[in-house]
Amino acid sequence: MRIGFSRLAQDGKARAGVIATPRGEVMTPAFMPVGTAGTVKGMLPGSVAATGAQIVLGNTYHLMLRPGAERVARLGGLHRFMNWQGPILTDSGGFQVMSLAGLRKLTEAGVTFRSHIDGSKHVLTPERSMEIQRLLGSDIVMCFDECPALPASDAQVAESMRLSMRWAARSKEAFGDRPGHALFGIMQGGVTPELREQSAEALKEIGFDGYAVGGLAVGEGQEAMFGVLDYAPGFLPEDRPRYLMGVGKPDDIVGAVKRGIDMMDCVLPSRSGRTGQAWTRAGQVNLKNARHADDPRPLDEECACPACRGYSRAYLHHVYRSGEMIAGMLLTWHNLHYYQELMAGMRAAIMAGRFGAWEAEFHAARAQGDIPPL
Ligand SMILES: [Zn+2]
Repeated sequence: MRIGFSRLAQDGKARAGVIATPRGEVMTPAFMPVGTAGTVKGMLPGSVAATGAQIVLGNTYHLMLRPGAERVARLGGLHRFMNWQGPILTDSGGFQVMSLAGLRKLTEAGVTFRSHIDGSKHVLTPERSMEIQRLLGSDIVMCFDECPALPASDAQVAESMRLSMRWAARSKEAFGDRPGHALFGIMQGGVTPELREQSAEALKEIGFDGYAVGGLAVGEGQEAMFGVLDYAPGFLPEDRPRYLMGVGKPDDIVGAVKRGIDMMDCVLPSRSGRTGQAWTRAGQVNLKNARHADDPRPLDEECACPACRGYSRAYLHHVYRSGEMIAGMLLTWHNLHYYQELMAGMRAAIMAGRFGAWEAEFHAARAQGDIPPL
């Protein structure tokens, strides 16, 4: 079967749909937990699924260096290796390689870089990135692209975008025809509408199963990001999923869905969980804070996750302060659960044609803030 996307409802620019893959359906808007090195840190695959996640992300850069794509392939592919049977999206490795400033050399052919683990030399090209993602067994493959480091001049952003479009054509050629697997193109062009439109036109000319809005969430701030999202998704085909990479905080996600984005991923809920930070309907709660030390109440009274059903704020505070592994496990579970509830809430609101009212309730709950200390 081919990976297909059906739009079920639209409210304003916000869309609800479903991505059908041979490994299962992904309801959109979708949030993808990040399984960088073949694991969503601190979570068993069944626990990730229990939060409502239907797809996870794997990182080409990390997996190619350790344990190596050929090894994963010999061991039966990434799904079997990490024991996640649902769909997996892999990034191209481009973004992480580009962020290795000083450790890389960029040419028309691709990027030569040194491993952050052992200093060994590697080459990533569009062709090699497609090969690695095929070896991993990724269901949704991302084009190899370049994301210029900010701040960059208009000329640098334009040149980088054109290089990414040449690499997109090479990625498509190398990907070939693989029924059951999808290839997504990545729009670049910085904060310049003309460049974003040129990039979208170039990608549509090549033709992809889905399209990402790239080059955002790289430190430009929410206002600038929303500024681009106000127009950029409109340059992309309506009948294909739109993916915003590396986003974000809950209010970033809500703002992106409002502007027509269907898929997102971010390390934030899992990383925050390991540093004592929880995301709730009331905003951010810092479990490190001494105010929780004697608090018998759950983190969120209305949350159905194991951290909130079985434990007090005092316990979460205690295990975090004691450096116990369960602290990161419970808070990661809660955060991923909250993110999935957020997506489900938006999806239901879009289907019911009340996204605007849902959004107002979302912001009102956050404005109220956390429950007062006892
Ligand atoms: Zn919870």
